Amino acid sequence: MLRSILNRFFAALFCFVSLFVTQPVYAEQVVVYSARIEQLIKPMFDAFTKETGIRVRYTTDKEGALLARLKAEGRNTPADMLITADAGNLWAAAQAKLLKPVVSDVLTANIPAHLRDPQNEWFGLSIRARTLVYNTQRVKPAALSTYAALADPKWNRQLCLRTSKKVYNQSLVAMMIAEYGEAEAEKIVRGWVANLATDPISDDTRAMEFVAAGRCGVTIVNTYYYGRLMKKDPTLPLAIFWPNQENSGVHVNISGAGITRYSRNEQAAIKLLEFLSSDKAQNLFADVNMEYPVNPNIAPDPFVETWGSFKKNPMNITKAGELQTTAVKLMDRAGYR
Ligand code: FE
Repeated sequence: MLRSILNRFFAALFCFVSLFVTQPVYAEQVVVYSARIEQLIKPMFDAFTKETGIRVRYTTDKEGALLARLKAEGRNTPADMLITADAGNLWAAAQAKLLKPVVSDVLTANIPAHLRDPQNEWFGLSIRARTLVYNTQRVKPAALSTYAALADPKWNRQLCLRTSKKVYNQSLVAMMIAEYGEAEAEKIVRGWVANLATDPISDDTRAMEFVAAGRCGVTIVNTYYYGRLMKKDPTLPLAIFWPNQENSGVHVNISGAGITRYSRNEQAAIKLLEFLSSDKAQNLFADVNMEYPVNPNIAPDPFVETWGSFKKNPMNITKAGELQTTAVKLMDRAGYR
């Protein structure tokens, strides 16, 4: 009798304890769709789980495929968060009503206003600078000044550009339209096209290889590609030039995230988003890809810091999305393929 009472007591106790010990570890989870590859996100997710006990499950794919999937899944989506590069992509996700606004003092304190959506549907988490890289044996840095100046005939057959199909260049041209107006921006892009030394190139790394090989003097690339290339071969005759330092500043874009419209774990997802903007995660998020932290209190990776500090264009990057279609049409008219 006593034994059976004790058995029942221990069974009940076990259930009670396991409810509080086992359950909370798995009770909360966040599902992430990420266009950033696993090695760029896993370290932050592991740190988040360690700190909060909230599990993070993720799927990685190209941004187009993830957006299509979110659209198709609608309110049945398992995803709570979308992570992708480029404000143009996040803007497109918001336009397609795939994201929901988040009100968070932590996010507004950690992320400068121009690097997040004014409607709070997405937030920048790292900064990527799109800057000039030139051949140190062929070009004197004093000859360089702005993106617009690359349209000057003195750069005839000296310019290499990545294809206009890439969202990075669409965002760059969109920001130039915002700055100069459409007519002036078109004049600049036509000047670029007239100065091209080769047909537009498939990616930033190849564009720099063309510059290093002396097939052109200068190109426009994201700095992390420069970092990767120079780590592989520090002897390449390449250097970074920060344009527009006397006026608007360097064109910057972001990698960022938003909470999905039909998230079922919204509170946990907001916690993850806040964590990614925090001092603890900012270096992880930026340094793994040689980008710059969005949180201005955090210094970049020491290798990235050797490229020097620079003035960033403070225009809200939402413009990159709003003017994307206009930019694509403009580049097409100007013959930039
Ligand atoms: Fe990239």
